Amino acid sequence: MDTNILDGKKLSLELQEILQQEVKRLCGRGVAPALAVILVGADPASQVYVRNKVQACERTGIRSEMIHYPEDVAPARVLAKIAELNADPGIDGILVQLPLPPQFDEKAVLAAISAGKDVDGFHAENVGALSQGSPRFIPCTPYGVMKMLEKGKVELKGKEAVIIGRSNIVGKPMAALLLARGATVTICHSQTADLGFHTRRADVLVAAVGCAQMIRGDMIKPGAVVIDVGINRLGSGRLCGDVDFTSAQPVASLITPVPGGVGPMTITMLLTNTVEAAARRAA
Ligand code: NAD
Repeated sequence: MDTNILDGKKLSLELQEILQQEVKRLCGRGVAPALAVILVGADPASQVYVRNKVQACERTGIRSEMIHYPEDVAPARVLAKIAELNADPGIDGILVQLPLPPQFDEKAVLAAISAGKDVDGFHAENVGALSQGSPRFIPCTPYGVMKMLEKGKVELKGKEAVIIGRSNIVGKPMAALLLARGATVTICHSQTADLGFHTRRADVLVAAVGCAQMIRGDMIKPGAVVIDVGINRLGSGRLCGDVDFTSAQPVASLITPVPGGVGPMTITMLLTNTVEAAARRAA
């Protein structure tokens, strides 16, 4: 068995078991955690993501409500539904599956979700709270990465952390979280001049690009912790990350696989955020 693999699937199952107990405890107090998921259109990847989220809720005992609209739905209808869910005391979390069709202004939709029910952590108020160091909802993917680093007992204080990718859902919140834990953080992106220069300095390297196997073993500092957020499909149909696992694994001290690494943790942290919201309702 490979000993330097950070197994996200296994950690997810452990955390989901703890969540199940917490859901039971909350239900016993009359607060049944509930998540509403809004899906617009028939994008196959979005449908799979939503199905996985709903199934994970069922396994954990969280009540989930799936609202599915056709591709050409008027944005006003979706916004009215969000307003209804915001006002519903029985709903703890609201999630709108992205991307939305072109008639939507995604920022306006995210802003319409009550910040107290924004379990994805994308609302500007929650982004601000995170960057001020007092997070309410942490975006699920970087939250999952932090849990994996914790599980791997990775020391972050004083370490060089390099993130590749500056998206609002992964790269930027990841930087805020690593910074808060005392790492010195560099964010690389599509205009970074010499990517290898930065990656070779990293004690902790997080790849969140969406470019199959772009990070090779010779771009990694020996002993680095390598977190692969990317999900890419090769011509053969096989899933792979942004890191070339075969050449990177012997160089890294710890590494996450794809699949079975960050992906399962993302869903688990969505459940965690929903249960945290319900616990606030119960308090
Ligand atoms: P995005 O497209 O919003 O951002 C990609 C980032 O990569 C951009 O900031 C861009 O500047 C940077 N980039 C592009 N080319 C680059 C290059 N050559 N060198 C350096 N940087 C470059 O993507 P995202 O939503 O942040 O997702 C990134 C990847 O992570 C995707 O593969 C996505 O599928 C995956 N993802 C996985 C999970 C999960 O749960 N595992 C969750 C979210 C996203």
